[in-house]
Amino acid sequence: APSGRSAALRARMEERLLAARFRYINQQLYTSTSQEAAQLFQNDPEAFEIYHRGFAQQVGRWPENPVHRIIRYLRRRPASLVVADFGCGDCKIASSVRNKVHSFDLVPLSPLVTVCDMAKVPLAAESVDIAVFCLALMGTNLQEILEEANRVLKQGGTLMVAEVASRFEDIRAFVNAMAQLGFKSVSKDLSSAFFHLLEFAKSGPPRRRAAPG
Ligand code: SAH
Repeated sequence: APSGRSAALRARMEERLLAARFRYINQQLYTSTSQEAAQLFQNDPEAFEIYHRGFAQQVGRWPENPVHRIIRYLRRRPASLVVADFGCGDCKIASSVRNKVHSFDLVPLSPLVTVCDMAKVPLAAESVDIAVFCLALMGTNLQEILEEANRVLKQGGTLMVAEVASRFEDIRAFVNAMAQLGFKSVSKDLSSAFFHLLEFAKSGPPRRRAAPG
């Protein structure tokens, strides 16, 4: 029994350490440029593994994972539409829908991933019908990343953003900044206490330099 207790204690400590390391890396991703994030994972491949285990653990505690909401949304739309999943993680979207899905991340968690910085994806201009950022709008160069999404989206194309609710200081300011970047608000789902789900349509190219904040 004592050894069973110490094993349980050890497991609990390990889980807390993992959670702490996840929060630390997560904070780094939200406070550095995407180039720095790429560098972080290149220099420390273990960081990526820890980040993803921690991410799965955290979202697993939420009543609903926003990626499932996005998958349900995609299934209601024609399978002929081309999708780009920015910061795809383990490619839940690509493995759950019939659409052609371009999956981008810094490190390949799955063979479906195209490894790149999402600020510069290997897609032609106006080649995508739906762009997705599911808990992946990170990096202080958000504006550059959203301009890249705008570039690859067709006119009228859809942009889906799911993001941690507490990260929004002011939804209206965010929606206004998105309008400057060429994305018109279509709908907002603020029903979850954990994440907000926002749908935009590409109205045109970015209008002028405006930081989404
Ligand atoms: N969309 C997935 C994973 C979200 S976790 C899901 O909902 O399950 C955020 C992901 O964004 C991580 O996999 C991280 O590696 C990726 N990411 C962060 N910055 C990135 C960047 N600059 N370019 C590409 N991917 C990035």
